[in-house]
Amino acid sequence: MEINNIRFSYQDKVERLKGVSTTIEKGKITTILGPNGSGKSTLLSVLSKLNQPTHGEIIFNGKSLVQYKAKELAKNLSIVQQTSVAPEDMTVEKLVYYGRLPYQQMFKMPSEQDEEKVNWALAKTGLTDKKDALLSSLSGGQQQRAWIALALAQETPYLFLDEPTANLDIFYQYEILALVKELCETDGLTIVMVLHDINQSMQYSDRLMVMKEGKLIAHGPSEEVITKELLQEVYGIQVMMKEDAGIGKYIVPVGPVHAK
Ligand code: ADP
Ligand code: MG
Repeated sequence: MEINNIRFSYQDKVERLKGVSTTIEKGKITTILGPNGSGKSTLLSVLSKLNQPTHGEIIFNGKSLVQYKAKELAKNLSIVQQTSVAPEDMTVEKLVYYGRLPYQQMFKMPSEQDEEKVNWALAKTGLTDKKDALLSSLSGGQQQRAWIALALAQETPYLFLDEPTANLDIFYQYEILALVKELCETDGLTIVMVLHDINQSMQYSDRLMVMKEGKLIAHGPSEEVITKELLQEVYGIQVMMKEDAGIGKYIVPVGPVHAK
């Protein structure tokens, strides 16, 4: 996916993306970092055609994103948004079946292939035993996995995840990250996700994109992008850079950089 000089404003005409250009590499995990309000979710919404850029172009599989019909795009790209709300009476399996909509014909029963894919998505996310449970009865981690299962049932080579670890305790955070890694390595998915934890981002991503005030101010291989200077500039925090034989580079935040 080629992103060429994307600009975007909501109705208020304030520019929220100010000329973003980069390439999303196929078969890799890319993580978008940046402070609250820097434009991460907005960027994902434009990359998944939920919003139209006011300027610039996105080339997806050799074709401009504007040329994709909704159904065609839904077979190639799925997104789990930051806040997803399901109706009260929704079961896990029913939710995951929504992922099959792009493949179904109106007034037809789900096919064998639909059933197979739903079962695969449930198994992949460890929710087979929970398929008849109400979504609202699940833990936060399980709910997050149910939304990911919906996206997986969509059978798309590209998967976008907006803050998939938000509001989860550390066990469930790593459970989601391990799933993301497996989806990339075993199933060949291209993943773009938004995370807040810098160490998790370095540990689980091939590439990073760092946003600040609507601009992409750094992008590239994870270990190259994260520096003391960058984190000071983007977040206003002071960190120590460390390295561990097992997990590679990591940071230890020291505190805010106080303005003099
Ligand atoms: P992030 O995901 O990095 O926290 P967002 O992309 O959600 O940031 O938001 C970027 C900026 O756009 C913020 O200033 C936010 O207030 C604004 N914004 C987000 N959604 C809308 C909207 N629907 N209408 C107007 N402004 C919005
Ligand atoms: Mg966001």
